[in-house]
Amino acid sequence: MKDLIILGAGPAGLSAAIYGIRAGLNLIILEKFSPGGQVMNTYEVENYPGFANPIPGWELVSAMENQARRLGAEIISGEIATLSFDSRTKIFTATLADGSTVQAKSIIAATGASLKKLGIPGEEHFFGRGVSYCATCDGAFYKDRVTAVIGGGNTALEEAHFLTRFARRVYLIHRRNQYRADKILKERIASDEKIVPVLETIPLSINGDTKVKSLTVKNIRTEQITELAVDGVFVFIGYIPNTSYLPKDVLNEKGEVIVDIHMRTKIPGLFAAGDLRSESRRQIVMACADGATAAMSAYEYLSQQ
Ligand SMILES: Cc1cc2nc3c(=O)[nH]c(=O)nc-3n(C[C@H](O)[C@H](O)[C@H](O)COP(=O)(O)OP(=O)(O)OC[C@H]3O[C@@H](n4cnc5c(N)ncnc54)[C@H](O)[C@@H]3O)c2cc1C
Repeated sequence: MKDLIILGAGPAGLSAAIYGIRAGLNLIILEKFSPGGQVMNTYEVENYPGFANPIPGWELVSAMENQARRLGAEIISGEIATLSFDSRTKIFTATLADGSTVQAKSIIAATGASLKKLGIPGEEHFFGRGVSYCATCDGAFYKDRVTAVIGGGNTALEEAHFLTRFARRVYLIHRRNQYRADKILKERIASDEKIVPVLETIPLSINGDTKVKSLTVKNIRTEQITELAVDGVFVFIGYIPNTSYLPKDVLNEKGEVIVDIHMRTKIPGLFAAGDLRSESRRQIVMACADGATAAMSAYEYLSQQ
């Protein structure tokens, strides 16, 4: 029986492990892919404190993983499918996708969030053949090509800027009349002549034959429909929390975990940290802080049992 199971080995889960182990908890981390989370797909991070120069995402998160492992954290490969709680014994049972189970006295849910899909014709069909959710992974395939980025937040602007290393033109398509990103990113975009802002516009369909050839868009003010010739479409329109395994009564209407300032849910012994929680700002530094807070709260909870 473990003191604590941490679900997910992104920045939140790894930070929780670092704090949990140093507090003397007997814990494991359960991760469905490889450790690192979304940061593995981030080209460069320039807003995580402690680094004067931008640091590649994989390097930052590998350092977190190495730190957790050096302290003794065990990262187990597995996907959590359901989580149940016995209120009499106060024991959590995590059932994995392969049917196996692990039990613990407390849980930190840190399974993060996944990028949202557009849900338009062609998106699924051309996934991997011109439709992507990761510029860092696929940007290099678009050398001297034309791409479109859909979205208007920090991630969309960062990724559009990254794509200009390869693509000769990047349409930056957003449904509002201005981007909703940090000032520094908006200024960077405005001064980049490879980026073509396309505002008040929504995508209607992604078209092609064996690969993407064009994107049909509609201006929501004028209602004009245009077909943009593009070789690739990158989608960054928001996130869906990875919380389907959790009891519905700890989630809000968006599927995010409701926590208090100590990262406690309404179920004693169940904590949540990082991008999957309500009111999250979805940034690495905040996911790390959440993870540390959740581990300290778990320690407190276990000490009182
Ligand atoms: C393209 C991009 C660029 C970004 N750039 C920046 C930036 O410059 N600066 C910044 O601060 N933030 C940036 N972010 C946001 C940042 O990456 C996230 O805020 C941060 O990774 C959240 O950490 P997390 O640990 O909560 O979740 P995640 O990083 O999502 O990690 C969750 C982990 O849980 C695992 N998991 C999911 N479901 C299960 C399951 N059922 N069972 C087991 N494991 C599971 C996942 O595989 C993953 O490893 C960026 C995000 C993206 C997508």
